[in-house]
Amino acid sequence: MATEPGQARDPRPTLAVWKFASCDGCQLTLLDCEDELLGLTERVRIDHFLEMTPAEGADREHARLDGRGPYDLSLVEGSITTAEDAERIQHIRRISRYLVTIGACATAGGIQALRNFADVEDFLAAVYAQPEYIATLETSTPISAHVPVDFELRGCPIDRRQLLEVITAYLAGRKPQISNHSVCFECKRRGTTCITVAHGTPCLGPVTHAGCGAICPAYGRGCYGCFGPSSKPNLRSMVAQLRHDGMSERDVQRVFRTFNAASPEYAPVPDLAAEERQGPSA
Ligand code: SF4
Ligand code: SF4
Repeated sequence: MATEPGQARDPRPTLAVWKFASCDGCQLTLLDCEDELLGLTERVRIDHFLEMTPAEGADREHARLDGRGPYDLSLVEGSITTAEDAERIQHIRRISRYLVTIGACATAGGIQALRNFADVEDFLAAVYAQPEYIATLETSTPISAHVPVDFELRGCPIDRRQLLEVITAYLAGRKPQISNHSVCFECKRRGTTCITVAHGTPCLGPVTHAGCGAICPAYGRGCYGCFGPSSKPNLRSMVAQLRHDGMSERDVQRVFRTFNAASPEYAPVPDLAAEERQGPSA
């Protein structure tokens, strides 16, 4: 909390955690760092984190937000889905020295970005008894579509080891060492036989960002891409492989439209899937 008048100044950098449209799972990853959390609080002062604030305090914190900060490190979860969100993220950017987005919602629009491919009014009418009370944008967009972001951490939810690395790197004044290779790399490292090669199981591992330790293939199921795109994904080959492994054109489109639906890297997928149906042009 803020230093009171007459108190010695707290030398620790301040940390703030913010939420937009999301399920809170990525914030919970910070609370899941049970063994490291106390050590972490010796190095940073957690100054704003409603998820771990008692309800009464959370109300107070929310009311006092204006005029607070600046914060040294802000972790931002969730996507921008309302006009109020779009204003609030501008304010948070202004009061944050280093801003890191955490999770698929914040880095790629989240599952709520499925609205970007449909008419949001249809969803409102289907879900709410009185849709006229809902004020929402037509799209769900990543934080980086609105403000400059210093680092993006992928995953749905994020991986706790990667989160700790990002915070540790910030404290050490260095770049986070989060490798952007694919899930395939993690399969090889843990000695998992490739389920596509061995069994023809459709798997997004070749184009998906590492971080989960390749959990799904280790249990015999294909990766469905919850960590979002890896660096420079070869989508043309991936789409051809998925079609070869039995996925329909529609299923190929759908498998990329999950947690990272608004990811710009995935934008060419519908065209590639259609091209695959017609056969590559000469
Ligand atoms: S990325 Fe996944 S776990 Fe994180 S807030 Fe969004 S839906 Fe929840
Ligand atoms: S879907 Fe892919 S990225 Fe997500 S946990 Fe499974 S293997 Fe990892």
